[in-house]
Parts: sequence; structure tokens; C-alpha cells
Amino acid sequence: MSVGDKYTLADLPLRESLRGKSAYGAPQLQVPVVLNTNENPHPPTQALVDDVAKAVGSAAEDLHRYPDRDAVDLRTDLAAYLAGATGVPLTVDNLWAANGSNEVLQQILQAFGGPGRSAMGFVPSYSMHPIISDGTQTTWIAAQRADDFGLDVDVAIAAITEHRPDVVFVTSPNNPTGASVPVEEIAAILRVAPGIVVVDEAYGEFSSQVSAVTLLDEFGDKLIVSRTMSKAFAFAGGRLGYLAASPAVIEAILLVRLPYHLSVLTQAAARAALRHSAETLGSVATLISERERVVAALSAMGYDVVPSDANFILFGEFTDAPATWQRYLGDGVLIRDVGIPGRLRATIGLAAENDVFLSVSEKLAGTDR
Ligand code: PMP
Repeated sequence: MSVGDKYTLADLPLRESLRGKSAYGAPQLQVPVVLNTNENPHPPTQALVDDVAKAVGSAAEDLHRYPDRDAVDLRTDLAAYLAGATGVPLTVDNLWAANGSNEVLQQILQAFGGPGRSAMGFVPSYSMHPIISDGTQTTWIAAQRADDFGLDVDVAIAAITEHRPDVVFVTSPNNPTGASVPVEEIAAILRVAPGIVVVDEAYGEFSSQVSAVTLLDEFGDKLIVSRTMSKAFAFAGGRLGYLAASPAVIEAILLVRLPYHLSVLTQAAARAALRHSAETLGSVATLISERERVVAALSAMGYDVVPSDANFILFGEFTDAPATWQRYLGDGVLIRDVGIPGRLRATIGLAAENDVFLSVSEKLAGTDR
């Protein structure tokens, strides 16, 4: 019982286009093994925790003042990190930051999508792309991936040429399927796209492919690369996403961002975490080798595993994926039913967590799964 609970959503003057839609809802359950939201399972080092606490402590002395609206110091640090990672000489004017890359994506659609405009993605892909499109009144156009879940660049180019979307999303590595899109194929898409191309590189640090950031100089009028500290950077709770683009794109984003959107605490904490990037990103190699171990073990059990360039795997096939998801949960392992028939997604965890996941998988392999 809550105050006002005699009213339901149907009683509210909700925008028609939102009726019948579902909110983003990865379950958040307290179970022993949590492998459902693609975080880095390695907790921050004590040195990082201490540095964040110190930085947040001194930032707190300024809590009576608004934060730096343009987050210049943080963007400068992000530019240095991304320049080092990609070899592209980025500066503060190429970087923008917000509360998670979801907010970055929303700001992109506020600036370049909106009523009368469209955004295209290649599904199955990240479920927030259509949800953020709905929220910004951008018409969502779903084009299909190939049967093996890879992006067929010829199909993509044909779909872009036919529909001429204002915004194209390319997720690389793709969530929930795992494979990256080679940078030459992204360049081919950029050549035909009439508007903005957002390359969502949330899992970029895990990828064996060159970052699309290397295309920025050539395609600065249309390319935006979005990234996040939520995955490899082990900072999902800190909420910090960013994008790399030409300075003109950053100028466009400034038109739609809310003033002071990044709190002084977030900016201080993210800068402290970035100072420890070398030690944090040391876990990437461990996770990749754990991924290879998990893939080999699942394959040996007879599962079909989609090749992954990220920190998660899509596997199957199951006659009833939701029922199998429930069985994993019954054994204390939370994975993800992403709505692809016959498939489930599992994040790569710590070795001990992966062992539990594999032993449940082995048990289920012998049943009618
Ligand atoms: N893009 C992709 C492809 C993702 O998988 C996610 C997180 N699941 C995000 C963006 C958003 O992450 P965040 O808002 O935490 O940066």
C-alpha cells in the first residue's frame, strides 16, 4: 500500500508513443553469482578506493558551489587516456562526459534525433538504443543482423540507403552478441550514412579491433564514438560515460545538456579512478583468458557459443530460454535473458564465479535444456 496507488499508468496523460512500452529492467537480485550486467567483477584496489575517498573528501569542501559545468579537468584526463589507448591525438575539445554512456546517448539523440527524425540500429543489439529513441521522440528503425548475429555490412548499407536515418547506431563489440565490427566496415557505413553514426564502444577495451576513434579525423562531420567507465574500468557505480568526436559535435551537445549535470563528487571520483587506469585495466587480460576458458568448456559440453570480443558470451541453444534462466537462478547464478529465442547471455566473472556457472551449465547440459 502506498499513497496514491489507486491510480495506474493507464490513468495518466502519458505520451501516446510511450503506451505499452517496457522500462529497462535487468533484474537486480541478491544471489551468490551475479553475471548479468557485464560489469568488471574485480573490485577496485584499496589504493583506488583510498584515492577516490580523498578526492571526494576535498571536493566536498566545495559542495555549496555548482560544479565545473564543462568538466574541463575530467575531459582533459579522459582525452589523455583515450589518446594513449588509440594513438589519436585527442584533446579536451574532442571529449564530452556525462552520467554513464546512456546519458551521452540520450544527449546525442536530443541534439541529432527528435520529432520527425529517425535512428537505426542493427538488432539484436543494446536494448537502450530504441528506448532512448522513444524517450526523445526519435523514430526507431530496426535493421537485422545476419543469422550468426554478425553485422552484414552490405545489408547495413542497403538499409541505410533505403531509410536514410538521421542517426545510425553501430555497437562494437555488440551487446548482447559479442562480436566487434572491423573498422573498415565502420568506414564503409560512414561513407553512405546521411547523418550521424554513433559507434557504441562500451566494451572497447576488451576488443581485439582498432577503435573507431581512428576514423574521427576523416569523418568528423558525422562520427561519434561513445565509451564508458562502467565496464573494463570497473566504475559502473560511479556513473561516468563519455564520447569522442570533433569539437563541433561537442558544441552541439552543449545545446541540450542540463547545466551542472556531472556532480562535483562524480568528477572528482572519476578523475581519481582514471589515475589508476593502468592497474584497473590490468584485469582485462585476465577476463579475456577467463572468457576463452569458459567458451572452450561450454563448447565441450555441447553448447553453441557465439564468438565474443567482449566480457560476456551469448550461448544456447535452449528449447525454453526463460525456463533455463530460472534454473540457473535456482542454483544461485544470475545470468541474462535478453529475449533472443533459445539463447542466454552470461558475463565473464571471477574464476571462482565462472567455475560455479560452468558446473551449473554442465548439470543442465545433461537435461532437456
Ligand atoms: N552501451 C552498451 C552497448 C552497453 O552494454 C551499456 C551498458 N549495459 C551501455 C552503453 C551503458 O552503460 P553506462 O550507462 O553504464 O555507461
